[in-house]
Amino acid sequence: MPKHVYLDHAATTPVRPEVVEAMTPFFGPRFGNPSSVHRWGRDARTALDEARERLARTLGARVDEIVFTSCGTESDNLAVLGAWRATRSERPAIVTTPIEHKAVLATSHRVAAEGGEERLVDVNEHGVVDRVSYDAKVDARVGVVSVMWVNNEIGVVQPVPELAARAKEHGAVFHTDAVQAFGKIAIDLSTLPIDLLTISGHKIGAPKGTGALFVRRGVRIDPLMHGGEQDRGRRPGTENVAFAVGLARAAELAVEEREAECTRLEQLRSRLEAALLERIPDAVVHGRGAQRAPHILNISVAGTDSESMLMALDLKGVACSAGSACQSGSVSPSHVLSAMGVRPEIATSAIRMSLGSLTSDEDMTLVAELFPALIQKARRLAGQP
Ligand code: PLP
Repeated sequence: MPKHVYLDHAATTPVRPEVVEAMTPFFGPRFGNPSSVHRWGRDARTALDEARERLARTLGARVDEIVFTSCGTESDNLAVLGAWRATRSERPAIVTTPIEHKAVLATSHRVAAEGGEERLVDVNEHGVVDRVSYDAKVDARVGVVSVMWVNNEIGVVQPVPELAARAKEHGAVFHTDAVQAFGKIAIDLSTLPIDLLTISGHKIGAPKGTGALFVRRGVRIDPLMHGGEQDRGRRPGTENVAFAVGLARAAELAVEEREAECTRLEQLRSRLEAALLERIPDAVVHGRGAQRAPHILNISVAGTDSESMLMALDLKGVACSAGSACQSGSVSPSHVLSAMGVRPEIATSAIRMSLGSLTSDEDMTLVAELFPALIQKARRLAGQP
């Protein structure tokens, strides 16, 4: 039986035992509804308040600035659509980038469908926002600016603090999708000019279906759902106490371990990257010319295709993902790589390896041997030298 190597932490992570332990009582005796006045309700309310306080502390936020949601996608929708709808009459335009996760990009398209003016900023060949294009697009007509902090396909870090400051000079609300940044980049919202920030639990050891949105005090957002007064009416619906508790615990652990874990991952990624580039000299590592978060390595080799490589890797016990979206059997180039100007034949061979808690030194050694061998085989089959 081959050793299994999980290199898909940017897709999801295993739930941490500490998180399971923190959540377990809420699937048992502590089952109350936080809105109820009796003792079960009060107990659930206390747990929810505590979770909110603990999560807020990891971000440098105030308790009333945390909205619990069902995932990163919901947080992105609530931020982008909610903030735009709240300001649309005075400021109808929205600015975002073409390399956002679809949770932001498709929501921005939705803004356009509702009569908004969508402005996409250019990115350079490394996947970094072009400052000239950004400055030209952010003006007094813009209500919302949304720029992701760390890109989920290539790991490139955007200069979010500077971009946020610029947006604020023009009076726009600034949102960042920090789903891949949380636990990798130091975030202190008490000093940063960010109005809205998205996190997702399943990328940091909490269950899938957990998320939160930071909403700076005084920033208006229209709710996406209508009903009760939970979360100050910003997100009605009976709160998922167990998941809020789990998310807060995972966030605390991610922040506590951030520096040591980032150093560890950076070393592992560098070693793997150097080994792959040595053995496959014509390989392209996307975003290599920019600052990158330590957990993502996205590599393309001309003459191969992502889908076949993923299957070959999977057969050998190695789980990665593609930088391309597979649609009905055909691989279309990733929108991120396309926006960076990567040629389609390179883009359609992209493989994303994402490191995390399960990644060991031994994994890197194994993949450094296996990947070049599989590439060579794929090239031979395609009739290439
Ligand atoms: N934003 C980014 C950058 C992501 O990587 C993801 C998930 O892959 C999301 C948003 C969506 O998060 P969720 O899966 O919690 O909806």
